[in-house]
Amino acid sequence: AARAPSFPFQNTYARLPDHFFARLHPTPVAAPKLIQVNTALAAHLRLDAEALAGPQGVAVLSGNQIAEGSEPLAQAYAGSQFGYFVPLLGDGRTNLLGEVVARDGKLYDIQLKGSGPTPFSRRGDGRAALGPVLREYIVSEAMAALGVPTTRALAAVTTGEHVVREGMLPGAILTRVAWSHLRVGTFQYFAKRGDIDDIRTLADFAIARHYPEAAHAAKPYRAFLDGVIERQAKLVAQWMGLGFIHGVMNTDNTSISGETIDYGPCAFLEAYQPNKVFSSIDQQGRYAYSNQPDAMHWNLTRLAESILPLLIVEEGSDEAGLATAYAALATFATHFEAAREQNLRQKLGLTTQQEGDNTLAEDLLQRMAANRADFTLTFRRLAEAAADASRDADVRALFADPSSFDTWAIQWRQRLAQEASILGERTAQMLRTNPAIIPRNHQVQAVIDAAVQRQDFQPFRDLLHATADPYQDSPETSRFTTPALPNECVFQTFC
Ligand code: AMP
Ligand code: MG
Ligand code: MG
Repeated sequence: AARAPSFPFQNTYARLPDHFFARLHPTPVAAPKLIQVNTALAAHLRLDAEALAGPQGVAVLSGNQIAEGSEPLAQAYAGSQFGYFVPLLGDGRTNLLGEVVARDGKLYDIQLKGSGPTPFSRRGDGRAALGPVLREYIVSEAMAALGVPTTRALAAVTTGEHVVREGMLPGAILTRVAWSHLRVGTFQYFAKRGDIDDIRTLADFAIARHYPEAAHAAKPYRAFLDGVIERQAKLVAQWMGLGFIHGVMNTDNTSISGETIDYGPCAFLEAYQPNKVFSSIDQQGRYAYSNQPDAMHWNLTRLAESILPLLIVEEGSDEAGLATAYAALATFATHFEAAREQNLRQKLGLTTQQEGDNTLAEDLLQRMAANRADFTLTFRRLAEAAADASRDADVRALFADPSSFDTWAIQWRQRLAQEASILGERTAQMLRTNPAIIPRNHQVQAVIDAAVQRQDFQPFRDLLHATADPYQDSPETSRFTTPALPNECVFQTFC
């Protein structure tokens, strides 16, 4: 007999003041059907995967039934979208069901995305289409496997209903797990309302949940701001190292915890092109690959502004508050550049630090751009060539003009010769830093097409399986390592 899933929910967000959210239940759907339960994540969250996959589990994952102990709510937040401030956004299509303590001792949000209209829906229908749900499931899980802080996917269900997007599309609901869904936009929401007690309440909540060490600092709010800035700088450096383009880095999609959140029009670079944009809604290229560090710094400036009243109290004057905000923001570049350079050294197999390392890396990137070399494959093949110069052929073949790689490779090998590290260890490090498998855009698109057009979820499961082990080459998954053929290329992505 199928068990009912039990969620040992806490509801710490629901204990915050009433105007931080709207209490409401998900809107039931016609005919929910399970697509997938993430067994490993369920285990990490101490949830019963088998029960989640059963009829009563699916009822909860579709919003048709409220689990015992759940106090569903939609969170209020604001956001700067493409540079323009919107004072009221909020959860327009998601319900936070509650929080659970995972095996790592941390509290995680369990949220349904696509669960029906809320007071924050504006003109939206509160729903999600199957395609974007599958994209978020695959890409967020791939990012987790790649070692990037991210929201996770616990489950996905189809609703048996249609949503109107570019035509009628099947509807779906994603169960998203996040360390929290606090955003820069959540702080902007209360800053705009101008109530310093609310800003303090929110900051104290964020500190307790994500930056407990800041509570013991001499200046807790400055320490909190420093913490968010450091995590986000390192996060963007990780994105850059994987060729990841978030696509819609609005402040409402910038988390306080330092997790990647909101997989809308995201994409991975194939041919390396620093100014690359995929998102159909990013007309100006604001969130182009190479603009991501600047975009994040801009977003963090909005966070600093929002908590400025707390910094002023902490520092004792307007001037000192402002000065500390600027000082904190200035650390972004330091953290980002350190993380970026460290990542590039690892990608090149360098374990020591030498002057000129960054120039060597930048030189390679420029040659890759000029020769439209595949970002992921170039570094993966480089890892293989590090141990075996006869495999240089596999790297140079990725360059439109292979001799452009040859001239760079001479300098690279000279630099490698100055490394004391053992060759095997160096190669192992490169293979751990340079993935073989990323969820390539055309593969994600093929998964979506099969599911939407043929109700075939096998390609989804296959891609999920392959991306779960991104640093491993195996004959079984080798078809996921190749770039799109010209006729498979994805040029634009949509939310
Ligand atoms: P996003 O671009 O996904 O970050 O969403 C921006 C805002 O639009 C958030 O407040 C979302 O909750 C809201 N939103 C997005 N899609 C929908 C929808 N289909 N129905 C209602 N609200 C939505
Ligand atoms: Mg969003
Ligand atoms: Mg979104």
